[in-house]
Amino acid sequence: MSDTPLVATPLYGLRTWTVVGESGAERLAGPHQCTTWPPGGAWLEATCTQSPVHQPPTHGCGCGLHAWHPSRRSARRILAGRRDVPGIAEARGAMEVHEDGFRAERARPYALVLVPGRNARLVRRLAKVYAAQVVEADSPDAVLAFCRARGLGLDESTVVRLLGPATAAEYRRARRERVRADALRLAAAVAAVALLVVAGLRVATDPPGDRVLHGRTGEIHTNSR
Ligand SMILES: [Zn+2]
Repeated sequence: MSDTPLVATPLYGLRTWTVVGESGAERLAGPHQCTTWPPGGAWLEATCTQSPVHQPPTHGCGCGLHAWHPSRRSARRILAGRRDVPGIAEARGAMEVHEDGFRAERARPYALVLVPGRNARLVRRLAKVYAAQVVEADSPDAVLAFCRARGLGLDESTVVRLLGPATAAEYRRARRERVRADALRLAAAVAAVALLVVAGLRVATDPPGDRVLHGRTGEIHTNSR
């Protein structure tokens, strides 16, 4: 076995595009950098906004064209934004593979996802302009099923094999910690709201005057005169 992990290209991943341009002559663009992706099946070559000497994807930089490995989480993510067009990118050239996705030297739209109830005409028009397929999908699972049926993208076990188990475990731990921090922030916010509601009810039902309420964070002084 070789020490250098090999990834078969083209590599496919999920991502979204923003739509730019006049109605009827729309183009796809990156959500953050306003680079317009070239139509007609042409490849977009990544450039770096941080350094002119970078040849994307440069390790430690954010340059390169991004896409996520197909998973339920990433599929949910691309379908969440109603203004962006979700789809599947086809990537070639140098790649940097991460736990949740990759950055590539060049890419083009491979398929655009048409979600029922969204702008079907626009998605079909863009797919034609970009020589991309249209995938009708009403759920993250439907997007995932499309990728699995065609063998598109890297699955979790392949990513672990590429990154090595230690790196993959490190990524997972970092993600769990992020999730936990979010959960704590949410719990604190819910507790604060609950306290305000309790205080509000007491004030609403008690006769006017000074009083002291005992909340979870200590005494709360109120005056409802
Ligand atoms: Zn760079």
